[in-house]
Amino acid sequence: MESEDFEINLGNSFTDIRKSSQEDFIEFWDNQANSLTWFKHWDNTLNWNPPFAKWFEGGLINASYNTLDIHQKDKSSKIAIFWEGEDESQRTLSYSQLFSEVKKFSNILKSLGVKKGDRVTIYLPMIPEIIISMLGCARIGAIHTVVFSGFSSSSLKDRIEDSKSKIVITADGGFRKGKIIKLKDIVDDAVSEANSVEHVIVFERIKNGITLNEKDHLWSELMENASDDCDAEQLESTHPLYILYTSGTTGKPKGVLHGTGGYLTHLHSTYKWAFDIKDSDIYFCTADIGWVTGHSYVAYGPLLHGATQIMYEGAPDFPDISRMWNIIQKYNVTIFYTTPTALRMFMKFGDDIPNSFNLSTLRLLGTVGEPINPEVWKWYFNIIGKKHCPIIDTWWQTETGGMMISSLPGIESNILKPGSATKPIPGVSISVIDDDGNDVDSGTKGSLIIKNPWPGMLMTLWGDDEKYKNVYWSKFENMYYPGDYAIRDSDGYFWLLGRSDDVLKIAGHRIGTAELESSLVSNDNVAESAVCGIPDEIKGESIIAFVVLKDGVEYSNEKLNDILKDTVRNSVGAIAIPKEFYFVSKLPKTRSGKIMRRLLKAIANKEKIGDVSTLEDGAAVTEVQSAFEELQKSVNASDR
Ligand code: ATP
Ligand code: MG
Repeated sequence: MESEDFEINLGNSFTDIRKSSQEDFIEFWDNQANSLTWFKHWDNTLNWNPPFAKWFEGGLINASYNTLDIHQKDKSSKIAIFWEGEDESQRTLSYSQLFSEVKKFSNILKSLGVKKGDRVTIYLPMIPEIIISMLGCARIGAIHTVVFSGFSSSSLKDRIEDSKSKIVITADGGFRKGKIIKLKDIVDDAVSEANSVEHVIVFERIKNGITLNEKDHLWSELMENASDDCDAEQLESTHPLYILYTSGTTGKPKGVLHGTGGYLTHLHSTYKWAFDIKDSDIYFCTADIGWVTGHSYVAYGPLLHGATQIMYEGAPDFPDISRMWNIIQKYNVTIFYTTPTALRMFMKFGDDIPNSFNLSTLRLLGTVGEPINPEVWKWYFNIIGKKHCPIIDTWWQTETGGMMISSLPGIESNILKPGSATKPIPGVSISVIDDDGNDVDSGTKGSLIIKNPWPGMLMTLWGDDEKYKNVYWSKFENMYYPGDYAIRDSDGYFWLLGRSDDVLKIAGHRIGTAELESSLVSNDNVAESAVCGIPDEIKGESIIAFVVLKDGVEYSNEKLNDILKDTVRNSVGAIAIPKEFYFVSKLPKTRSGKIMRRLLKAIANKEKIGDVSTLEDGAAVTEVQSAFEELQKSVNASDR
C-alpha cells in the first residue's frame, strides 16, 4: 500500500484512553457515558442478548436535554447555528433561541396528539427547522424519521407507511441549484395514499403561496401561539430516538433504528476525539441531515458539545464551484467535514479556485462516505489544509451510528497514511476475516467485521428483527458484518477497499473497487472513476471503467486507453487492466456523495435500473448509458 506517511503531532497523547479501552470495553463505555447528563444512572451497562444490545439499561436520559438544556447556563448566547441559504440569505440561532424554538415545537406536537413512541416523518430541506423538528420530537420521546428531501413522493410514501407516521413536517419548497423544488406537492401526493398521517405541518421557506388541505397547518401560525415551557421527558436509555432509512445504494431501504443513551454516548465521545472540538471552533459539515452523517455530526454531535456550526442549504457547486471555499472564508471555518466525492469534483477544476480564498482558519479536515483516493487525500492536505491540517478519514455506517475507524486528533498524535482510515476508535474491536470467519494475516484482503457490540449500534431494523439478524449477523457467527471489503496492513491500519458486493473477481483474484479506482485517479488526466464487472466467459468477470477526465484534458480516447492501461498495469497489475474504458462527464451519485456502482453495473449488463430517486443528478445516468451504448456500437462495428 502507500508507503508515504504523514505525521501530524498535535501535542495530545492521551493514550490512557486507548489503554483503558483495551482492558474492558464495557467498563470503558460505562466511563464514557458519564460525560452525558442522566436523570437516573443506569443499572446495567450492557445487556447483550446477541444480536440485540441494550446499552445503559435502567438509565433515564433525553437527547434534547443533553443538546440544549445543559448549555443554557454557560452558552445561552453562543451561536449554535449560522445558517446560509443557497440564495445567500442568512439566519443565526443562539443556544437559547434554539432552546426556545424546540420547546415550542414540542408543545405543538403534543397539542396535535403526538405521544411518546409515535413516529413523525420530517421531509424538510436543510433549514434550521429540520433540527428544531428533530429535537422537538426527541424532547417528548416521539421517534423522528427524517426522509431526505430529494426523495420522490413514492419513496416518501413507502417510508411514511413503513414507519406509520402520524405527522409529516415539510416546507412549501426548497432551493437546489437555483431551482425551486416544490416539496409540499410531493408531500400531498404521498399523504393522499398514506393513511396513518393525521397532520401535516408546513414551514414556508419559499413563500410563493400554497393551498392548505384539511390536515395541513402552517408552522408559523402554530409557533406564534405556542408556549416555550416544556420539560424534557425522562426516557429510558433504550428508548428509540429515530428511524433512518439507509441511503439505498443497493436499492432496498432498511429502517435502521437507533436508541438514545448508547447512541449519544458514542457521538459525544467520537465528536470530541475526532474533531478535537474547542469552544472557539467553527465547524462545518456539508452532509444533508437526510443522511446519517447529518444526524450524528450535524444535529446531535456538535450540539452535545455546545459547538458553533455552519448549516448550508444548497448545492456545493452553486452558484459556482467555489461556494464551499467562500463559506469557509466568510465564517472563518476551523473544521471542515465533507465527502471524497465532493473533493474529487472540486479537484477536477484545479488549484487556482481554492487558492484564491483565504482558508487559513482551517485547522482540521475530515471525510466520510467512500474510500478516499490517496491522490485526492494529498490534494485535500496540500491545497485545502496547506499542509498543516490533519485529515480524519472516518469509516462508519448508518447502522454503526457513529465513527468506527478514524484517526483521532483529539486524543492522540497521528501518523496518517493517505487513503487509510487508520485505526478503530477506542472501545471497538474490528478485524478482517476470510470466508470461513478466520482472521487473515496483515496485508491480506477480506471482509471487515466488528467483534463486540458498541454503544452507537443500531437496535434493530424497524419492525423486522429477522431481517436485522439476517443482514448483519448471519454471515459470521456473533460478529457484525458491515458488508465492506478491507485490508489491515502490518502497522494495524485499515484500508477500506469498497463494498463486498462490488468486489471484482478476475481469474481467481479479488480486487476491491477502491484499489482500481484509486489507481486510475492517480493518473494526472483523471478526475473521477468508477469500475464494475461484467460477465466474461473466460475470466469469470471482466472489468469496465467509467472515467471522468480533468478539465482541459485533450487526448484521443485511444491514446488515453493506453495511458490508463499502463497506469493500472504499473500500480495494481496486469490482471486488473479494464477491458473497456468509457469517458463520461459525470458519474451517477447519491446526494450523500456515493457513486452508484449498482447503476453502472446494471447499465453495463443491460439490466433494469432500480430506484434512482436519491440520485444527485439524473442526467448522469443517461450520460453513462449513452456513453456506454456509443462505445458498444463502435466495439461491435470494429469486430465485424
Ligand atoms: P445501503 O446500505 O442502503 O446500500 P449505504 O451503505 O451506501 O446504503 P451508508 O450507511 O450511508 O449507506 O454508508 C456506509 C458505507 O459507506 C460503508 O459501509 C462504506 O461502504 C462506505 N464508507 C463510509 N465511510 C467510508 C470511509 N471513510 N472509507 C471507505 N468507505 C466508507
Ligand atoms: Mg450500507
